[in-house]
Amino acid sequence: MATGNVADASTPTRLTVLAGPTAVGKGTVAAYVRAHYPQVWHSVSVTTRPPRPGERDGEHYHFVSAQEFAAMVDAGELLECAVVHGRASYGTPRAPVIRALEQGRPALLEIDLQGARQVKRVMPDALFVFLAPPSWEELVARLVGRGTESPAEREARLATARVELAAAQEFDAVVVNHAVEQAAADLVSLMTAHVPAPAPHEAGQAVPPERAHRR
Ligand code: 5GP
Repeated sequence: MATGNVADASTPTRLTVLAGPTAVGKGTVAAYVRAHYPQVWHSVSVTTRPPRPGERDGEHYHFVSAQEFAAMVDAGELLECAVVHGRASYGTPRAPVIRALEQGRPALLEIDLQGARQVKRVMPDALFVFLAPPSWEELVARLVGRGTESPAEREARLATARVELAAAQEFDAVVVNHAVEQAAADLVSLMTAHVPAPAPHEAGQAVPPERAHRR
């Protein structure tokens, strides 16, 4: 099933976590999925960063103060949380995720690598998808393309991106972001594919289709 309004009985109810290096286009792919695959439920994160023009509270994020964020952490209300780019805190409210899974909806979290690793500790059965750039050169072009960073800032971002790219091996599947529509389609098909238990001799072996592959 590629599109549709409801999760049918054959749709797995597993949580999917989408992560990847800075500037790879996770947000764009997630936004495309939101617009074109209404059967997918999206988590709305909490953040302490201020809204950008056009962002609406409760839709793009729940925008909260640092005190409100800390209270949510203390109350155990977040499935995971992290400070991203050293600037603001982000977290995934736990209760809506559990509710979506109980309702049988394929659920998607688009979060950073630190958050993905935390979810892996508490929900190891989730599907972890790494969004990768077509090439290192392409990622560098996307990172430095705006030309607004100082050389030092650019170097720092590239160093971070190199470390983040190496994390691909921790994930169950890799989707290469050649084009947003295709990456979104690949992601949704991974989310809604039946995942048969591997035969003993296949366990741990890679099964790579062309663009998206499960490990
Ligand atoms: P932005 O501020 O540009 O919307 O997002 C910055 C980064 O925060 C992105 O890499 C995004 O994936 C990450 N992010 C958004 N929501 C969450 C969240 O709930 N938890 C974590 N760990 N990262 C998040």
